[in-house]
Amino acid sequence: MVSARNIQLVQGDITEQETDVVVNAANSSLLGGGGVDGAIHRKGGPEILADCRALRASKYGRGLPTGQAVATTAGRLPAKWVVHTVGPVWSKDEDRSDLLAACHSNSLQVADSLGAKTIAFPAISTGIFRWPVKSAAEIALTTVLATETSSITAVRFVLFDAAAFEVFNDALTELLRE
Ligand code: ADP
Repeated sequence: MVSARNIQLVQGDITEQETDVVVNAANSSLLGGGGVDGAIHRKGGPEILADCRALRASKYGRGLPTGQAVATTAGRLPAKWVVHTVGPVWSKDEDRSDLLAACHSNSLQVADSLGAKTIAFPAISTGIFRWPVKSAAEIALTTVLATETSSITAVRFVLFDAAAFEVFNDALTELLRE
């Protein structure tokens, strides 16, 4: 189990993290996209896309379902593996929190099964998928704290801008107070 002490918040770029795993906010095609996905493929190079294509051919011809997670090489990134997960698109009419939680618990479980010790998450669904950052932070942090892991010793959230960093920081402070 990851304790609150082992959660790190940093402002920065997920592609520069030297954690064993970096998590990609992928789209279900696994063929790349904008935001984090675009940055990971651009910096990580064609090996990542080649692994994604192989996953599509073998298992995910219809796409990776929302909430699930799969691992590939990290190519030229400093990490060892990229774990791709598909976040839910924000909906004001439907509560999709369980799917956003599943992205985090499934990514942790995939990382754990690889024997990873450290993992870095972006703020999944808060970009193109428009999930409000405060809600995403609460779901991400509570899920990480509730997920059983064995090899993982540290979980880092990498927030791209200062505003998202502040929101995650406030949410973590609030959780520690409870
Ligand atoms: P989604 O489609 O799941 O919303 P996005 O990639 O559009 O995913 O955005 C998720 C979050 O990641 C947003 O808050 C965005 O600002 C942030 N982001 C974009 N590029 C990077 C990066 N290189 N490193 C870390 N976070 C990033």
